Amino acid sequence: MNILTFDIEDWFHINFDKEFNNEILWNNFESRIEKNTEIILEILSEHNIKATFFCLGWVARKYPSLVRNMDNLGHDVACHSDIHNLVTKQNKEEFDLDLKRSINSIEDAIGKKVNMFRAPAFSIGNKNKWAFEKINENGIEIDCSVFPAKHDFGGFTELNTSSPFKINYNGSFLKEFPMSTYNMFNQSVVLTGGGFFRFFPYFLIKSFMKRSNYNMTYFHPRDFDADQPILENLSKIRKFKSYYGLKYSLNKFKNLLNDFDFISISEADKSINWERQHSIELY
Ligand SMILES: [Zn+2]
Repeated sequence: MNILTFDIEDWFHINFDKEFNNEILWNNFESRIEKNTEIILEILSEHNIKATFFCLGWVARKYPSLVRNMDNLGHDVACHSDIHNLVTKQNKEEFDLDLKRSINSIEDAIGKKVNMFRAPAFSIGNKNKWAFEKINENGIEIDCSVFPAKHDFGGFTELNTSSPFKINYNGSFLKEFPMSTYNMFNQSVVLTGGGFFRFFPYFLIKSFMKRSNYNMTYFHPRDFDADQPILENLSKIRKFKSYYGLKYSLNKFKNLLNDFDFISISEADKSINWERQHSIELY
């Protein structure tokens, strides 16, 4: 099972500083999300592939026709928070409000219920598992926030799983499609998204994916935009992760679509007998 997903946010949403997380400030920046997402939609149409688009509520308010277009083309429109605030920087009430605002904005744009979520930068880990309860309370049935490897902002390193499972947290149930991880030199690594996809050579990514029966991808429109402005105040390591390999990534992505059959999360969901999937109880 190869699943294609995108997190729909602009080039400047990689800055997680609190004072930067401000919609009024963002009006000062050139927005590239509409154009960059349309390029992706066109490539997917050429390949006749359906994907899942985790959108910010901000995107749905600013570009409702873009989000409607994803839905009209048969893709899943899902939620990626409202303004890309890390879950680790919010308390329960703040997270709940952000989630509600986002879901409302996306549902207003597409006129349909939203039932899938992915946290910004996979920022759910052992310290804020309460987020799963809030996600469930807000009508989300499918979550894609679990990163079963080390991550700057979250991650569940002890979860040795790389296939869909049921999350049971404090009586809340969610269907979970985690990031897929691959065993390289006895380390769990992620290869199929964002900076990881741009960094690792394609032949390596392809060979690991061929050997796995669960490959979850995550891309952003900015992953293929070599002309995007550079955010100067990021740390050296984040700059490297954010901007390495931009020139070659679109071709790499097209190779991926030629070499593998991809489906969206809703298509994957239908093919799974959830009664039989393993359940993980988080404490
Ligand atoms: Zn994101």
